[in-house]
Amino acid sequence: VTAMLRSVSWTFRGLHCSSVPLSARVNSKRADRSCALAEKVAVITGSTKGIGFAIARRLAQDGAHVVVSSRKQQNVDRAVAVLQGEGLSVTGTVCHVGKAKDRERLVATALEHCGGVDFLVCVAGVNPLVGSTLGASEQVWNKILDVNVKAPALLLSQLLPHMENRRGSSVVLVSSMVAYVPVPKLGVYNTSKTALLGLCKSLAVELAPKGIRVNCLVPGIIKTDFIQRTTLHGLRPQLCSLLFRFGEPEECAGIVSFLCSSDASYITGENIVVAGYSPKL
Ligand code: NAP
Repeated sequence: VTAMLRSVSWTFRGLHCSSVPLSARVNSKRADRSCALAEKVAVITGSTKGIGFAIARRLAQDGAHVVVSSRKQQNVDRAVAVLQGEGLSVTGTVCHVGKAKDRERLVATALEHCGGVDFLVCVAGVNPLVGSTLGASEQVWNKILDVNVKAPALLLSQLLPHMENRRGSSVVLVSSMVAYVPVPKLGVYNTSKTALLGLCKSLAVELAPKGIRVNCLVPGIIKTDFIQRTTLHGLRPQLCSLLFRFGEPEECAGIVSFLCSSDASYITGENIVVAGYSPKL
């Protein structure tokens, strides 16, 4: 019965792909949607707001079933309601990525609803400290490294058995331009984001034999609540964009859909900057 329901849901999604609601099209500024991710399942952490939400919407618009998640139930409920209201195939659950039990629940939810997972996109990230690196407490170090660096690896280790038997599985991590151009007073966060560049490379090497690609999105300054909170602390954006503006969350989403798609089948271990300009060679 579950398999039958799933196939009905896939069929419905196929119809959706050919007739995306106007609201979804206007929102994403794209009129012609392909179904590059049809019949695929994506789990996305930190996806009820900002960059993660834009990625969730885009992967769902491109045909995937998306499992959204974040720490707060009300945010999950709102995100699921908005995306389902656009006719997209979405479920959601609470998952604080730093908590083992929450990670287990996220994996269980994905398997219960979808039977397997094709893509993991790790967006959740925190920065509880604006201050000197050497003044940071051990607690702050632990929180930032637990959530930003360890959680993606630990979650992936739980999902791996359910990803490796599917064709074209792929992981996308989310770092930051501060990995390349450190921002003063964000030293611990900068360091965590640099670590993600290395994690991307290591996982790409380790998972290549299993046919799983791993890439990393490296955003510049993107207009979200996260950046509002940072600038509110008196920090001025120090990363310059040649395009003379900050980015929109939606401008980070298309590249993630591409990286998950079969068009990116020969791309792994890449750290890809979306920042209006990149100082890296
Ligand atoms: P945002 O608008 O503040 O959204 C953060 C999302 O993550 C929310 O859905 C939040 O929901 C969730 N979240 C926060 N902590 C979490 C945790 N421990 N476990 C699970 N979910 C959690 O932030 P954003 O700007 O989109 O940032 C997303 C990612 O992009 C972060 O990794 C950030 O470091 C990175 N980034 C952002 C920028 C930028 O300029 N905005 C630039 C470079 C990199 P709940 O509150 O419900 O948990």
